Amino acid sequence: MKARSPALELTDVILEVGGAGLLACMQCGTCTAVCPWPRVSGFNPRYLLRQAALGLEGYEQEDLWRCVTCRTCVTRCPRGVDLIDVMRAGRAVMLEAGTAPPTYRGPLASLRSDGNPWGGDRAQRGGWAAGLALPAFTPAHDYLWFTCCTQAYDPRNRKVARALAEVLRQAGVSFGVLDEEGSCCGDQARKMGAEEVYAGLRAANLDLFRGHGVARVIVSSPHCLQAFNGDYATEVPVHALHYAQLLAGLLREGQLHLTREVAARVTYHDPCYLGRHAGEYEAPREVLRAVPGLELVEMRHSRETSLCCGGGGGGLFLEVPLEERLAILRVQEAQATGASIIATACPYCTAMLEDAVKVQGLEGAIEVKDLAELCALSLSSAAEQP
Ligand code: SF4
Ligand code: SF4
Repeated sequence: MKARSPALELTDVILEVGGAGLLACMQCGTCTAVCPWPRVSGFNPRYLLRQAALGLEGYEQEDLWRCVTCRTCVTRCPRGVDLIDVMRAGRAVMLEAGTAPPTYRGPLASLRSDGNPWGGDRAQRGGWAAGLALPAFTPAHDYLWFTCCTQAYDPRNRKVARALAEVLRQAGVSFGVLDEEGSCCGDQARKMGAEEVYAGLRAANLDLFRGHGVARVIVSSPHCLQAFNGDYATEVPVHALHYAQLLAGLLREGQLHLTREVAARVTYHDPCYLGRHAGEYEAPREVLRAVPGLELVEMRHSRETSLCCGGGGGGLFLEVPLEERLAILRVQEAQATGASIIATACPYCTAMLEDAVKVQGLEGAIEVKDLAELCALSLSSAAEQP
């Protein structure tokens, strides 16, 4: 019997995962019109879908790895096609065939061996909190604070986690951490097509939640939010809250007091996984408006039409030529508002936007700050200044 071509096999797998959606595509091109990539490259999701549906050779081209799972096309497709599922399925086949980008190998190996994509020692997962004496979670706490791997190991994002710890503490939030026992939420692995790696990480975290009696989780990353409230939801009765949502609630209830002036013009970059994936646009803006002296201005693309930073869906681990980096576009949009600070609420966005500021030589002209850092600056007695 003649072996099937990888392209035909790919079509079958995609049909198994989200077949109805794939076949529903009417090739209208709306996805290509709203996708951020055509602004900087020849990536064309409509064409990719046609190739996938027909099993045409060429589907396994490098464009398959470009999709950053920003969800813009999913919210606009008139036929309800979930292109993210299509991309995931295609990537799974390509990963199996050994044609994934070489830069994926390190993060995937580290996820398998140490439960994080950064090559970090699992025993050092709690190193970011050195000296803070954060309590270990017990069922007596209201929340488990689940620190994202990127905040645990990336030096820039560690500062964000430390700032958030101070804000939570001053607001009197009852929380504990379980850093060394946690594993990556697995969102990147899943979107990269590494379903098996994702399944292992999910199982480890579900055991952690069950074993410690966790019911409510504070997450630092919108990707953890999507994983816990979305992908894990059928199996575990935990409810995750992004810290921007928690802080907005604390401000409303009068538990968090931001009194120091932060005199700056700030524009807010909506992370795709907090905005389009979770539908949360208002809470982070509510927090920013509560900082005295802060002037909030909007970019041309904001809220539902926000432009992706390029870090989702494995984008964080992809080599992209300078002239094709989405984060550079985003920083240019931010500059057009006259803002001196780009605020955001996602560790990937912070890393991608800060890289874009550096490669354009804009340090000193515009800086990237997480919401938690701006809140920490505005605390009445800021012990932990970012
Ligand atoms: S927007 Fe939907 S129907 Fe139109 S080409 Fe894209 S996937 Fe197909
Ligand atoms: S999810 Fe975003 S990056 Fe991926 S095809 Fe859709 S619009 Fe483009």
